[in-house]
Amino acid sequence: MEGTFLKHLFVFDFDSTLVKIESLDELLIAGLRKKGKDSIIPKIEEITNLGMEGEINLKESIKRRLALAELKRGDVQQFKTKIVEEITPGMEKIIAWLQKQGHVIFIISGGFLDCILPVAKKLNIPEENCLGNTYSFGSNGFVNDVDQKNPLVRSNGKCQTIYGLKKKYNCPVVVVGDGISDLIPWQNSMADYFLGFGGNIHRPKIKMQAKHYFTESKDLLKFIKENF
Ligand SMILES: [Mg+2]
Repeated sequence: MEGTFLKHLFVFDFDSTLVKIESLDELLIAGLRKKGKDSIIPKIEEITNLGMEGEINLKESIKRRLALAELKRGDVQQFKTKIVEEITPGMEKIIAWLQKQGHVIFIISGGFLDCILPVAKKLNIPEENCLGNTYSFGSNGFVNDVDQKNPLVRSNGKCQTIYGLKKKYNCPVVVVGDGISDLIPWQNSMADYFLGFGGNIHRPKIKMQAKHYFTESKDLLKFIKENF
């Protein structure tokens, strides 16, 4: 592969890639269970699916879910302490190897930055290399909205953010992720490589469109070692 001697900018997706779960839904569901409001959980899942099927945009999907979940600061704090247990097996090894080679690593996610940071710390990824959504609390003490100025709240936000980083670092960009928003930057030539990861959720549609796709992190590591 050309450019092997160059340093690369590796952009990792968070949900279902670096961690085994979809963090926003898990956070909302954990909060609802704690309050004994299990009956609302299917409604949350319904909205998530509407978003994934493109029926509503990401911004609307987050807003509707937050309105139902009555999420408090304490719920977020509790969830943050648990999320490092959800790191996908093998990812620590991959990140450590890339760091040793001197590649630049970013985490870019539509999920909450607050949930990403404990994982980043565990993986020795600096805080400033983590980009995610931030939320605000309403007067009732519930999380009521996300920062609307953040590009990551929009469906094409990841693409835009990656484009900005590519210009800044001026080196080849490799995106590692499970979803459509990870694939699109490569399809739009904003990323140079897309390494699909289906180890947590296997998405046949992504596999079909990706040039490289892995269902085991050891195979992803092997490919990375051989090519970067
Ligand atoms: Mg994902």
